[in-house]
Amino acid sequence: MKNVFLSFLVLGVTVTTAQNASYWQQHVDYKMDVSMDLKSYQYKGKQELVYTNNSNDTLQKVYYHLFNNAFQPKSEMDMRLQSIKDPDGRMFTKLKESDEKKQSRIANLQPNEMGYLHVSNFKQDGIAAVTKEIETILEVTLARPILPGKSTTLTLDFNGQVPIQIRRSGRNNKEGVELSMSQWYPKMAEFDFEGWHADAYVSREFHGVWGDFDVKITIDKNYILGGTGYLQNANQIGYNYQDTGVKVSIPKSTKTLTWHFKAPMVHDFTWAADKEYVHDVVQVPDVATLHFLYKNDPKIKENWKKAQQKTVELMQFFNSFVGKYPYEQYSVIQAGDGGMEYAMCTLILGEGSYEGLVGVIAHEMGHSWFQHVLANNESKHGWMDEGFTTFIEDTALYELSDKKGENPLIGSYKAYYKLVDSGKEQPLSTHADRFDENRSYSTASYIKGELFLTQLEYLIGRENLLKTIKRFYHDFKFKHPTPNDIKRTAERISGAHLDWYLIDWTQTTNTIDYRIKDVESATDGIQRTSVFLERIGRTPMPIDILVEYTNGTKESFYIPLRMMNFEKENPTPSIKRTILNDWAWGNPNYFFEIPQSKTIIKKITIDPSGLMADVKKENNSYEIK
Ligand SMILES: [Zn+2]
Repeated sequence: MKNVFLSFLVLGVTVTTAQNASYWQQHVDYKMDVSMDLKSYQYKGKQELVYTNNSNDTLQKVYYHLFNNAFQPKSEMDMRLQSIKDPDGRMFTKLKESDEKKQSRIANLQPNEMGYLHVSNFKQDGIAAVTKEIETILEVTLARPILPGKSTTLTLDFNGQVPIQIRRSGRNNKEGVELSMSQWYPKMAEFDFEGWHADAYVSREFHGVWGDFDVKITIDKNYILGGTGYLQNANQIGYNYQDTGVKVSIPKSTKTLTWHFKAPMVHDFTWAADKEYVHDVVQVPDVATLHFLYKNDPKIKENWKKAQQKTVELMQFFNSFVGKYPYEQYSVIQAGDGGMEYAMCTLILGEGSYEGLVGVIAHEMGHSWFQHVLANNESKHGWMDEGFTTFIEDTALYELSDKKGENPLIGSYKAYYKLVDSGKEQPLSTHADRFDENRSYSTASYIKGELFLTQLEYLIGRENLLKTIKRFYHDFKFKHPTPNDIKRTAERISGAHLDWYLIDWTQTTNTIDYRIKDVESATDGIQRTSVFLERIGRTPMPIDILVEYTNGTKESFYIPLRMMNFEKENPTPSIKRTILNDWAWGNPNYFFEIPQSKTIIKKITIDPSGLMADVKKENNSYEIK
C-alpha cells in the first residue's frame, strides 16, 4: 500500500488542476494588538484588517463575528440551549441529581461572568463607517463600496470579557486552566460564491477567510501561552520557546510580556494561557515541531509525556495518508472543554485516561487537514469535516495500535443504524444549527460523514478511495471545497458516476436495504441454483455476493449498478469473482444463476465486507440447511 501512495504522490504533482477556472476567494490580513487584564478577565485591543475583495460583486457591507456575545443571558445560544431536547451537558446544570430539570448555565451568568465583545472607532481607510451590533454579528455599512479586485483597510478598537468557561472558550475551565481564548476577536465573516455566511453563533460550526495573522498579546509575565502562530520574540519570552542555549532573563521590574505571533494562511487565531503550564517541544522529522502545554500536575504528567511520541506517529500517519501538513508547528494544549480543533493547535481536556488523551489528539489534530487546510463550510457541510476527520482518526488509531481489537468502523455502522431506527435522522445537508437534537447532528456529521468514505470504498474499491482522499486534498487545499468536489474527485479517480450517491447519502434520509428473496436449486441435467434478490430501500447500490460451499471453497459474484457506469476491481482477488449483468435501479428485482458441478452451497451473503450500510442485515444472507 505504501508504494501506491508514493507513486500517486509523484503523479499528484503533475495532474492538472481540478478547480473550476472561475474559482475565487476573499483574502484577509489581520494585525492585532491586545492586552489582557487578569483581574477582570477583560481585554482591549486594536485590529487592522486589510480585506481584499476577489469576488465580482461590489460590497456595500461587511460582517464580523462577535462570538463572545453568545455567552449572555437570553442570547440566541441561551434560548436554543433552553429549548433543545438534549442540551450539551457542559452547558447546563441539573437542578437536582436524578432530576430531568436542567438549567442553562448561560442564563445564570452575572455581568462580571458573561462574555462580551464590542467594537468601536470603526474606520475604513481612515473614514468612519456605520456599525450595528446584532448580538454575535457586527454589520458594517462601509464608507465606500469595495470594488471587485480591490483592497481596503478596516481598523477598529475592541473590548471584550472572557466568559466563565461554558463552551469552547472561557476562563478557569474545569481543569483549572485560566484562559481558553478561542473565538475571541472580531472575525470577518466569509463571503464566497454563495454570498455572505454571517451565521449567528447559536451552537456550531465555523467558516472563515484565509489570510496572514500578526498578533501581539500583552499579559502578566508569569503566564505561559500556546496557540496559533509562530512566536516571533521567543528569545525574549523564554518558557522553553527560546532557541537552544539562549538564557532568557526577565527583569524583576517588568510586569508584563508582549507575545508576538505570526501565522500565515490560517482562517482563525486561538490561544490559551496559564501560569502552571509545562511546555515540551518534540520534533516530527521532516514535518513540524510539536508543542505540548499542560498543567504541572503529577496526576496527568505521565500520560502527557507518553502521548508525545504517539502524537509524532499520528502526524506522520496523517501526513502520508492525506497529504503534507503545510505549517511548521502544531500545539496540543490543555484547555477548553473537551476537544476542539483550531488553526495549528487544539485545546483539549487533559485529565482523562491515556487512551482518551490519544484519541482526542488523533481526532483534533486530524482536523488540521480538513477544517483548516481544506476548510469546507462546516455550518453547511459539517459531515465533510467531522466525518472525514473521524475516518482518518479511526484509521490511524487502528493502524498504529499495538493490539488490534475490533475495527472501530463496526461501531460507526452500528451508531448509524441506531440513528435510522430512532426516526430522528435528518439529511446531512441540514445546517449544523438546524438539527432537532444534538445527538442527531453528531451521529449524522461524525458517523454518517465517515461512512460516506467507507461506503465509497465499497463502491469504487480501497485503492481508489485512498487515491481520492489524497487527490481531494491536493486539488482543494486552501480552496473551501464543496460536497460536489469530493464526489467529482472520486469520479475522476475511479471513472464511476457518483452523483446519485452524493444525493441519496447527503441530501436525503433514504436508506439501503437489499435482501435475498429466494434461492432455488434445480437439477435438470446440470445442477444449478437460482438466486432472487430484491431492492427494498430507496438507495441503490452495486452488489457483492459471496457464495460459500460445504467443501470450504468460496466464489463471489458482482452485480454492477447501472447508473454508476462502472465495474469495481475484485476486492478479494484470492476469491474467484464473476461479474454479472448490471442492475438498473428501476427494477426492484434481480435474478442470477450459479452453475455448479458437484459442490453444494452452504451460504450466500450480500456484501461480505460489511461496508455497505444496509439497514437490515438479517435479510442479507441465506443458509442452505
Ligand atoms: Zn471534530
